[in-house]
Amino acid sequence: MIETISNTDELRGDLAAKGLKPTYQRIMILDYLNKHKSKHLTVERIYEALAKKMPMLSLTTVYNTLNSFLKAGLVSAITITGTEVRYDLTSTPHHHFLCRQCGQIIDVDVRCPIANRKNINGCKIEEVHGYFKGLCKECAKKQRKQ
Ligand SMILES: [Zn+2]
Ligand SMILES: [Zn+2]
Repeated sequence: MIETISNTDELRGDLAAKGLKPTYQRIMILDYLNKHKSKHLTVERIYEALAKKMPMLSLTTVYNTLNSFLKAGLVSAITITGTEVRYDLTSTPHHHFLCRQCGQIIDVDVRCPIANRKNINGCKIEEVHGYFKGLCKECAKKQRKQ
């Protein structure tokens, strides 16, 4: 099966809109993030997946590309695990839940009143991150059975 790039024009447009030159690597990395939206991947995971298709790719390139995406506001960095950075395509603001058993990170749609404020005591808010931790549905179910 040949995996095709979904919509190159659209990806190019997304990059250009953020002032980023649409290089091949950037398009490929953005495409991968797009296809794995809810996965909250690490640099290493993205590199491992793409290196199969792009033998010239280096971990440093992926790292630098994600950093440029981050600066441009194309992705946001999720540090819920405390030990690594997970990348999320910037979309509607949402919070995250980390399962301490299986390690999956789930998007949480929680509206908190502070998240809609533009500033707190004169400080301009640019990002709001809410981290919730515990047991996911499946892991909680397994635990009850034991
Ligand atoms: Zn779990
Ligand atoms: Zn998310």
